Amino acid sequence: MLVPPFFLKHMFDIILKRKEGTNVLKGIKLRLYPNRTQQNQLEQMFGNDRFVWNQMLAMMNERYQNNKDLPFLGKFKLNYLLKPLKKEYPFLKTSDSSSLQVVNEFLTQSWKNFFQDKSGQIGKPRFHSRKYLKKSYTGYVKTSKTGVLQNTKVKRYTVVLEPTGKYYLSLQAEIPEPEKYSLTDKQVGIDVGVADLAILSNELKYPSFDSSYFEKKAKIWQKKYSRRRHLVKLLVLQDRNKRVLCPRSLESFTNWQKAQKSIAKYQAKAANQCRDYLHKLTTHLVKQYDVIAIEDLKTKNLQKNHHLTKSIANASWRIFRQMLEYKCEWYGKKLIAVDPKNTSRICSKCGYNSGAKPLEIREWTCSKCQTKHDRDINAAVNILHKGSTKLNGQGLAMVTS
Ligand SMILES: [Zn+2]
Repeated sequence: MLVPPFFLKHMFDIILKRKEGTNVLKGIKLRLYPNRTQQNQLEQMFGNDRFVWNQMLAMMNERYQNNKDLPFLGKFKLNYLLKPLKKEYPFLKTSDSSSLQVVNEFLTQSWKNFFQDKSGQIGKPRFHSRKYLKKSYTGYVKTSKTGVLQNTKVKRYTVVLEPTGKYYLSLQAEIPEPEKYSLTDKQVGIDVGVADLAILSNELKYPSFDSSYFEKKAKIWQKKYSRRRHLVKLLVLQDRNKRVLCPRSLESFTNWQKAQKSIAKYQAKAANQCRDYLHKLTTHLVKQYDVIAIEDLKTKNLQKNHHLTKSIANASWRIFRQMLEYKCEWYGKKLIAVDPKNTSRICSKCGYNSGAKPLEIREWTCSKCQTKHDRDINAAVNILHKGSTKLNGQGLAMVTS
């Protein structure tokens, strides 16, 4: 038997649909890339959930053994027990308290299933082992990922660590009912870049969002901020050295704080407009194509001296990919992520691998079949080929355009 919260994850695999007025509840699954510190934090959360589950289960088991006629405890009764448990085991306080309540909810549900099952197929809830390779945590999770969603109210977050070592975020979200997009019978491969965000195998190019105006503004305020803060620091130091009666603090000066807010304002504006742009672009793409092949990349190698460009581009690609992921799912289209290996080295016409090409080379000619290639379009075509091979491997027919 599958016990919650693992059960919950399964529900996400199929798209959840429950009407609530004009809104529907949907399950969305996104890939997460936690850093080492975050991984450790999550490990603690997984452990806390497991601990509470096992403690509560042990108690319930004992109750059941002592008197089989005792009604089992509901989730509210279990939630009362969380307080003394947290006192005894302070490490539980690191968890968001709603997440521990969710554990109780799942536990209650699986006892209910056990009692209500007349067929005898559903066993008693089992203890969760540390060795179990799949881990999950349901509760409040702060992540930039949820920002890719528009007009959504997230009801529940679940972070899952799958046995493959990959982390996912499953969301239960309330969204306005999406309109259905009709099938177009078209497939496309997409390469991502810096100047052009998306380069399509059919030679269309979509530029990256130009946030230079906001960046310039943010930079101006950054300079003002540094200058003002530096001056204020000097004044505060002066007060201290002179041992004045009421020395002024950094916080008593507002002008540097104003500058700080302005920086944040322009950064937020850039991010919002970029997100809007990505929404429009991804919706357009999902409408146009039934199958979209993209590279499965965490980061793409760019010129090493362009750190800022690189981080901005990486952020855009991540959001772009995530939007495509869930929009394809919502609108009944297919997104295929392919291995990025050699996509920029192979000639899409004859398949000859002429090796790595420096990034400044935007066009090249295949030394074998003499085809002249635009670097990015060639890569996009290769991505489409890989995607179609992958699709066909799944036993689905696909016509390459
Ligand atoms: Zn060739």
